Amino acid sequence: MSSETPRTRILIVDDNDRVRDGMAMRIRISSESYEVEGVRTADEAFQELNEKSYDVVLCDLVLPGELDGAAITREIVEKHPGVRVVVFSGYESGERKVQVLKAGAFSYLAKPINYEELLHAIQTINSIRRTERFERSFRTLAKISHQLQTSLDFDLLAERVVHGATALGFVRARLYIYESEHKSLVGKVALGAREGFNFTGYEVPFRLNDPVIDAIFQADRPMVWNRDKILETFGIDDTEPWMTDLALHDTTWIDLPLIAGKSRVGTLAVDHGAGSRPHYDREDLEILDVFAGMAAKALKNSQTYQKEALVNASLGSILRDAPDAVITTNLQGIVTFVSPSGHRVTGHRPEKMLGQPAAKFYTDENGEKDAGIRFANQLMQDLRDGEGTISNRRALLTSPTGGPPRLVSISASLLRNDDGEAIGTMGILKELGALEAQSEQYRDVLEGFGYGTLLLGKNGNIRFINRKAARLIQMSREEADGRAFFDLVLPNQQQTLRLSFDEVIAVGDEKRVDISVVRQDGSRMAVNAKLTPIKSPTGVGGVAVAFSDKSELMALIQSGRLMALGQMVAGVAHEVNNPLNNMLVSVRELAARFERVESSQLKDDTEVFDKLKKKAGQYLEMAERNGLRIQGIVEQLRDFAKPSTFALVASPINRVVEDALGFFRTRFHNHNIVLVTELAEDLPQVSVDTNRLQQVFVNLIVNAEEAMETQPEKVLTVSTRAADGGDVEVLVTDNGSGIPEEIIDVIFDPFFTTKSPTKGTGLGLSISKSIMDMHEGTIRASRGPGGRGTTFTLRFKAAA
Ligand code: ADP
Repeated sequence: MSSETPRTRILIVDDNDRVRDGMAMRIRISSESYEVEGVRTADEAFQELNEKSYDVVLCDLVLPGELDGAAITREIVEKHPGVRVVVFSGYESGERKVQVLKAGAFSYLAKPINYEELLHAIQTINSIRRTERFERSFRTLAKISHQLQTSLDFDLLAERVVHGATALGFVRARLYIYESEHKSLVGKVALGAREGFNFTGYEVPFRLNDPVIDAIFQADRPMVWNRDKILETFGIDDTEPWMTDLALHDTTWIDLPLIAGKSRVGTLAVDHGAGSRPHYDREDLEILDVFAGMAAKALKNSQTYQKEALVNASLGSILRDAPDAVITTNLQGIVTFVSPSGHRVTGHRPEKMLGQPAAKFYTDENGEKDAGIRFANQLMQDLRDGEGTISNRRALLTSPTGGPPRLVSISASLLRNDDGEAIGTMGILKELGALEAQSEQYRDVLEGFGYGTLLLGKNGNIRFINRKAARLIQMSREEADGRAFFDLVLPNQQQTLRLSFDEVIAVGDEKRVDISVVRQDGSRMAVNAKLTPIKSPTGVGGVAVAFSDKSELMALIQSGRLMALGQMVAGVAHEVNNPLNNMLVSVRELAARFERVESSQLKDDTEVFDKLKKKAGQYLEMAERNGLRIQGIVEQLRDFAKPSTFALVASPINRVVEDALGFFRTRFHNHNIVLVTELAEDLPQVSVDTNRLQQVFVNLIVNAEEAMETQPEKVLTVSTRAADGGDVEVLVTDNGSGIPEEIIDVIFDPFFTTKSPTKGTGLGLSISKSIMDMHEGTIRASRGPGGRGTTFTLRFKAAA
């Protein structure tokens, strides 16, 4: 039917029956698409034209009655502008011909009729009609298009679509909206639209997944249907109920799929009313196709807009109190939504941002002109290139008052519609205060820290907690976030802690405190915490707290001790070997002498025996001395390995140093290390836990040995000296490889090592530092001249 040629309705007016009928017959047989009627008089013709629509009137010049051909023509053309009149006559009069054409006739043919000429005239009229109809339709389409573009109200648009269909000449239009969410059709049906718009919101009895309904509503091109065709195509007749409902039994209709881009909005069905004969032609379908495209686009836009409006409305209420700002843009980068907190975070009023390019609000350190555009473009590019998201990107925002730019962190993602097409962006903007601005960069580092680490705002509230701290305090990040740090410690310590905290903020120096953290289950943990100010150009922005569980520290120190013990045992083997050899030599020598005397004639000589007795005494004394020496060494080792409670005893530092070095003398000898000791006289006593302090020396000496490994001349200098304020210092200096400038600040960190995993653990210095902390002393490293060699300085307070 879509290829059917348009019907042409032709009325012949002639009182001569033979001429009239003959003409009708000739015209009919020339084409099936010509519908021909005949009347005798002008009056009959007028009446017929008022009742039915005709395209062409073929009229004899001379008819019974008063009116001549010219007058009849004039009347028809005036009253029925679409009708073309062709006048024929037996008179070959040029004057009449002119009169008739002046009256508005399309053509003047002479009798006897030349049928070729007549049919040609009809065809010409037809093609003119088609052109005119197209023109009219497109004028109508232009009007409809304007109407459809000037609203986003879905129901109003639906009405206009149905209206539009009737404006294009259809009697009825039914609009079915496809609801992707429910995968169902919702009908908006206008029945008898031409007679008066009747927009009913009809409950569509259709369910998707019915083969007929699916075929009709899933088609992607216009389809012409009627009852017979449905039966023929699907061979079923359960269409009865809706055929009746919609009065479609006697109708042929066109279903137009409404498809915008990739998505189906619904279907528009149009027809010429019940009982009308199916005569849809190619032109109908072409115009409808354009119309359907327009309608689909307008309806889709409205749906998208309404969804956005809904999202915006609900976002708005969700985000009213959210601390972070949510800002959406369309794909052109124009701001389409700003959450209420947008003002606080960006400094710009939301209403001033809406409708503006987002690029306007970005800048860079130098405030360069195109920086904002570049940044916004990059952001969009990265969103499109990447997985559609970016997280925690730092951005500088312009100030509305021309002040300094503001630092924020942006996490953004692409917004997509139901079809997965990107339609815009959504960004979450976080305010980065001085504290976050700095800590943001170090977060990863803090996370991997062996210490529990907290970052506190200036009010002492927790802003960041690393994994280790969360584990030690037994509190999740969410629970810790925003909590007052002071509340975590024993009630009687809170005041002191607060004072220390305030001092760190005010003075900007770091401070150590011993506190007991009370966990949620009531258990306590003794910690030694270091409070470090977080400085920014505008002053101290917060405090970093690094702490470790003291009992954990003890365990760590203990494991460090056993490690040092292993290193010591190697050195001590020689120490033990010597006296043991001496003992063996003495005992063997003694035995040999006894044997010699026994087997000789001298065995009864008292003088010889007395001498032997004296010698034996000497040898046994020597053996005992060596035995005691071994015992001493073994005890020392055992003491060292034994986990003892920490106890400070006032001791002469030189003795502690010498004892420690005692383990290493032979080892130094074997490794070609020259040991130089410069111990100052008359030093005040210092309070030390000898065992633990020896561990520090072991660590320092082992490190020094390793640093000097490739040195041809190895010199280790250990000195003691008096320092300011009655303090005492011990210096351990090697001439080894030295410590590179860039790592000197981190060598005391736990697990920092430059050595291979089999050799280094990175714990030696950090344990040494903890031990010095326990002595209320300090340890520091300094580079030798030209970066060669290293000096570690231990500083002790004099014992009270
Ligand atoms: P480890 O010795 O297991 O690496 P430490 O904590 O004892 O762990 O030392 C940390 C790092 O400090 C070493 O890896 C090394 O780079 C450096 N270091 C320590 N002492 C010396 C030294 N005397 N000379 C040069 N570098 C040293």
